[in-house]
Amino acid sequence: MGATMDGWRVERPGPMATGPLRRAELPVPEPAAGELLVEVSACGVCRTDLHVAEGDLPVHRPGVVPGHEVVGRVAATGDGVSGWSTGERVGVAWLRHTCGVCRWCRAGAENLCPESRYTGWDADGGYARFATVPADFAYRMPEWYGDAELAPLLCAGIIGYRALRLAELPEGARLGIYGFGASAHLTAQLAIAQGARVHVLTRAESARELALRLGAASAGPADAAPPEPLDSAILFAPVGTLVPVALAALDRGGTLSVAGIHLTDIPVLNYQRHLFEERTLRSVTANTRDDGRTFLALAGRHRLTVRTTPYPMGAADRALTDLAADRVTGAAVLIADGAPG
Ligand SMILES: [Zn+2]
Ligand SMILES: [Zn+2]
Repeated sequence: MGATMDGWRVERPGPMATGPLRRAELPVPEPAAGELLVEVSACGVCRTDLHVAEGDLPVHRPGVVPGHEVVGRVAATGDGVSGWSTGERVGVAWLRHTCGVCRWCRAGAENLCPESRYTGWDADGGYARFATVPADFAYRMPEWYGDAELAPLLCAGIIGYRALRLAELPEGARLGIYGFGASAHLTAQLAIAQGARVHVLTRAESARELALRLGAASAGPADAAPPEPLDSAILFAPVGTLVPVALAALDRGGTLSVAGIHLTDIPVLNYQRHLFEERTLRSVTANTRDDGRTFLALAGRHRLTVRTTPYPMGAADRALTDLAADRVTGAAVLIADGAPG
């Protein structure tokens, strides 16, 4: 009782320029039954945190501590937890509760559970010294990576993996990737490892350079046509006007998956140009724990290049402001004071 920690809360959601995030002295959370208390060493900065801070997503918990790409060490365990011990490295991701009994949970689609709850939105997340997580939703981390490199794998990596799966790549696919931030740069590497030819379409020059270095076949501006028709495309940029652009770039029977949780309005589509010839447009909604475990196992086998831009935990507001302005290459990661690399 009584222990406090530094952390960030979303006080009044609004544009980053209005300072929605405030640093505060918060009580150290107590792990409830079935939960782990995690001492945070690194927390990735995801675009969803920006949507929570800026109010694009409705408030689920007033004054929430954002952050759902949390890597740390188990500091304590609540009643009834088995299989985790103090000091072990652990990952905390976006999905933190599902009901387990609804038709979606029973069908292996717990990402669609109406009772699902999320870290850094419904419950406090990792922009603080400590966070809690239900042990059933905590991840074991692959070796070989440092804490800061692992953080972006926990959302950017997992969601990108699901978006790639839902984009239904045929053998030797021609894949278009629209937007090239944290998630896209990891997903592109997975796709290339699977034998896809990847074309990256994105606004920032530095992101195009990174794409080529990571093995993309081409990199051009977001609204340009790729050099060849696409079998599959993934939209990572939260920009609805790119939906018809990406659909028009698809070959017959192609699939566009939209990876973001939030998208600006999609303009009117033209049936002949954008959907006919059996093009498919689909969304990606969070992920299942199975996606998470499968992706982390893949990341343990294929060493991914994780491009991070580190910020001290005390500069979370600056990291989000930079993300909003597209000034981050790769993934922004908050590093706790005195944390191991
Ligand atoms: Zn359910
Ligand atoms: Zn995220």
